[in-house]
Amino acid sequence: MVNIEKKLVNYIDGQWVLPDRNNYTAVVNPATGQTITKVPLSTENDVQAAVKSAKKAQKEWALVPAPQRAELLYRVGSMMKERKEHLSRLLTMENGKVLEEARGEVQEGIDMAFYMAGEGRRLFGQTTPSELKNKFAMSVRAPVGVVGIITPWNFPIAIATWKSFPAIVAGNAVIWKPATETPIMAYELAKIFEEAGLPNGVLNVVFGSGSDVGEAMVADDTIRVISFTGSNETGKNIASKCGMKLKKVSLEMGGKNAVIVMDDADLSLAVEGILWSAFGTSGQRCTACSRVIVHKDVKEELTERLMTEMEKLTVGNGLDETVKVGPIINAGALEKIDRYVQIGRQEGAVLLAGGYTLHEDKEDAGYYYVPTLFTDVDRTMRIAKEEIFGPVVSLIEVESLEEAVEINNEVSYGLSSSIFTQNVNQVFAAQRDLDTGIVYVNAGTIGAEIHLPFGGTKGTGNGHRDSGLAALDVFTEWKSVYVDFSGKLQRAQIDTEQ
Ligand code: NDP
Repeated sequence: MVNIEKKLVNYIDGQWVLPDRNNYTAVVNPATGQTITKVPLSTENDVQAAVKSAKKAQKEWALVPAPQRAELLYRVGSMMKERKEHLSRLLTMENGKVLEEARGEVQEGIDMAFYMAGEGRRLFGQTTPSELKNKFAMSVRAPVGVVGIITPWNFPIAIATWKSFPAIVAGNAVIWKPATETPIMAYELAKIFEEAGLPNGVLNVVFGSGSDVGEAMVADDTIRVISFTGSNETGKNIASKCGMKLKKVSLEMGGKNAVIVMDDADLSLAVEGILWSAFGTSGQRCTACSRVIVHKDVKEELTERLMTEMEKLTVGNGLDETVKVGPIINAGALEKIDRYVQIGRQEGAVLLAGGYTLHEDKEDAGYYYVPTLFTDVDRTMRIAKEEIFGPVVSLIEVESLEEAVEINNEVSYGLSSSIFTQNVNQVFAAQRDLDTGIVYVNAGTIGAEIHLPFGGTKGTGNGHRDSGLAALDVFTEWKSVYVDFSGKLQRAQIDTEQ
């Protein structure tokens, strides 16, 4: 039995505080349709309180030696490890993903804690020779100051750790707005930070809608960075507002990820990879496979094998460990998925499996969509180009690797791609030519590890990356330091010829 508070409150300046307005909304378990808690709909005033506390706290926090800041993250990682099962169950209840995947997501957060804690003893800059005598030159990473993170519902804890852990170890203070659908992980993570001894104000959690809390964060001049994961529409809106303020913004948005299956592929492995990538998290991952680009010589066999395996996928409440595909996050997302399936049919794609919601007639029965497979999909169709964010896969036939790469690359997104082949020449050509931030060989489109950069090209982002060392670039400024110990004024670029 997992206990959940009846009502959540904000975490500002190390205190659990009621929101400015007595306004709350229900948090619904998507597997059952039942309300599990209530979350504040905070206002700009709550954001301002968080900004004030973060600004004050950051000055002190930046002076704490980075290895000591890292000690805090080691404690957070250990506590997450101790509470892994508790956190995973709560995550399944608020987001719906099956328990096995929830455990994987919490593990990702634990890994990130230890990885970024290690950075506390590195945070490497560069030392370089100076062009002048008796002069020392180096670059160091400086914290940006107060940073804002805005996270989505599909990875309520992992994405938050990708952003907040590097920010905190680098000496910033954080204001975090989690998605209103999934606030429980934020509440739990803030409790862990509090118990681990994080100084007041270094992490603040303000619950509420994107249009109130998110926009207030974007508009605030003290917040120097916004790190966002979510839809392209919201990302573009945030980026344009940040652009006018010359505020740094890191965006990680959608994908239209493809698995390429060549004629020499191990088809059993390819089927496993497609099932995991397409139907894991019910297809609600930015890296979810929604296109299978298959060589014509193996298309028939791959299709048959896929359909056989899809029939075995059990759909239901993710707390039941026999279930493989959990619910969709909410009724609106369910409708969006079904709308795309109707579009696919109208466009002339052939529906081979799924294509309908479950328990539609029952109230409070949760939001479920049956794993869906289309074939005879033309590369120009909307279902072949637009992000659906659900368990829907399109089979597209090709005659060569060149054609497969071209189709992979012609969408507006560039997050992840995968190729199944045993031909080493094709492997190397594909990893070079696939225009995505992540490329997998003989694995599906999901499975990123936290010590490498995560993000994509084109419409997926704006050039920044979460995770890995690259995350530090978002939350630090480079400072170049020159120390002249010659005792006289030496002029760079001028006095070098003496
Ligand atoms: P959003 O982009 O609307 O939400 C992501 C986060 O941004 C949430 O915390 C949201 O707050 C916040 N937000 C919303 N509007 C603003 C704003 N104007 N200013 C600042 N922050 C804002 O995505 P949705 O949840 O609505 O999902 C819609 C679609 O987006 C999905 O179907 C999918 O295609 C895509 N998506 C992609 C994700 C990815 O991993 N790349 C993750 C989630 C969605 P709140 O929701 O609390 O109002």
